[in-house]
Amino acid sequence: MTKQVPLYIDGEFVQSKTTQWIDVTNPATQEVIAQTPCATQAEMDAAVASAKQAFLTWKETPVSERARVMMRYQALLKEHQEEIAEILASETGKTFDDAKGDVWRGIEVVEHAANIPSLMMGETVENVARRIDTYSYTQPLGVCAGITPFNFPAMIPLWMFPLAIACGNTFILKPSEQDPLTPTRLVELFEQAGAPKGVLQVIHGAKEQVDFILDEPAIRAISFVGSVPVGQYIYRRGTENMKRVQAFAGAKNHCVIMPDANKSQVISNLVGASVGAAGQRCMAISVAVFVGAAKEWIPEIAAELKKVRPGAWNDENAAYGPLISPQAKQRVENYIKQGQDEGATLLVDGRDCEVEGFPNGNWVGPTMFSDVTTDMEIYKNEIFGPVLCATSTDTLEEAIAMVNANPFGNGTSMFTASGAAARKYQHEVEVGQVGINIPIPVPLPFFSFTGWKGSFFGDLHAYGKQGVRFYSETKTVTARWFESDIADASGPNMT
Ligand code: NAD
Repeated sequence: MTKQVPLYIDGEFVQSKTTQWIDVTNPATQEVIAQTPCATQAEMDAAVASAKQAFLTWKETPVSERARVMMRYQALLKEHQEEIAEILASETGKTFDDAKGDVWRGIEVVEHAANIPSLMMGETVENVARRIDTYSYTQPLGVCAGITPFNFPAMIPLWMFPLAIACGNTFILKPSEQDPLTPTRLVELFEQAGAPKGVLQVIHGAKEQVDFILDEPAIRAISFVGSVPVGQYIYRRGTENMKRVQAFAGAKNHCVIMPDANKSQVISNLVGASVGAAGQRCMAISVAVFVGAAKEWIPEIAAELKKVRPGAWNDENAAYGPLISPQAKQRVENYIKQGQDEGATLLVDGRDCEVEGFPNGNWVGPTMFSDVTTDMEIYKNEIFGPVLCATSTDTLEEAIAMVNANPFGNGTSMFTASGAAARKYQHEVEVGQVGINIPIPVPLPFFSFTGWKGSFFGDLHAYGKQGVRFYSETKTVTARWFESDIADASGPNMT
């Protein structure tokens, strides 16, 4: 019988009583490996009731004890990293190295959450007026929730619940219905790390379960990562219901290549950053902007891309895996056709890609267009597949203007040997995460993940100091004590 993914409610893994199940498939074979339940109203109500109850004691648990749960958790995740990566690879198709990276980048956030005592420190000023002091505390919000996408089933849940819980909140996670097995394993290990009952709950499902989270009055804050239309919907409906919302959405990330850049670095970095993980990364490079003579390298990049091939997760020679679903593959192939129809030059065509032994996989080979213009649909939309669009400008100023006119602002990178050009780019570009000779500049967790413009709705970003602020309130106390009230040492107060 197919494995039915459990819910996690009030400290127990339970089978849902739902009649609605969503198949989880191995994207390299289409084999159904599990079924995701769509949690019922009663199950979701039970999760909220338990999270509310657990908050009453968890918020009073000393911060160092909360930190110790995270210390044990990060150690357990490291011990089980390969095992989690295998589960992750089976449901996403990611190569083993990529799957291990997905887990590792989540572990780094848990390490960060283990530093919660210093992250929660407030501020003090003595004598704001004569003999009056002001000081602030960081206090948890209550019940928080997270809604996560398919493409990083370990890292993105770990962006959310460890930091929220370390702050003293309780948390309800709604993972992607397409790959629920990885988050289930993460939660088992969290329980093993000593997390008390009720601190974390998992409800599975899709839109209906998300709508429950958006409307439930007890939920104070929502973290979302996923596509643009869903992100906008969640931000609107969540804030309409007076909740705090951070919504990380899609992207179109440009890499600007100057003619003085290190050519071999440009070629190898562009190949990895555009087709790695089958292009299913919100920080993937999907547009290469060649400035001036750098455009002469386009044929060499196309030749390198042609050599790359996808394959099964445990094939050591595979550069990346399949797309997550047949629908995702179809969407990417439609864009490739549309690019041709719009007049872009198709230098490498990834359609009709075959992988020996896996005739039913959602394979799309590396694909590259040149002569792409900003009015084309393949430029305007996030394709979320292994497709690189190449374009060119005569000057750095024109390249900056192009990137700034794009509605997205998640990540960008620039390759150059000129400090002055790099300084100009990093200063003037209207994108939240910038790499200089680094193709995918994802900040480590002591910074924050700072997408801008159409790639992020909200103000406080994920992890780092901003993550702690998102999951907490600041309480500012102004206090006065009267010296005349100090008891005489011989008086009754000293007995
Ligand atoms: P998605 O928007 O389809 O799904 C994300 C979550 O929203 C899932 O849990 C899903 O169940 C839920 N959902 C889907 N449709 C919904 C609806 N109509 N109403 C309410 N909830 C709904 O995204 P995906 O395909 O899983 O993930 C890929 C997208 O995520 C890409 O656009 C990618 O750029 C983006 N992403 C962004 C970041 C970032 O940090 N900016 C990181 C990773 C992924």
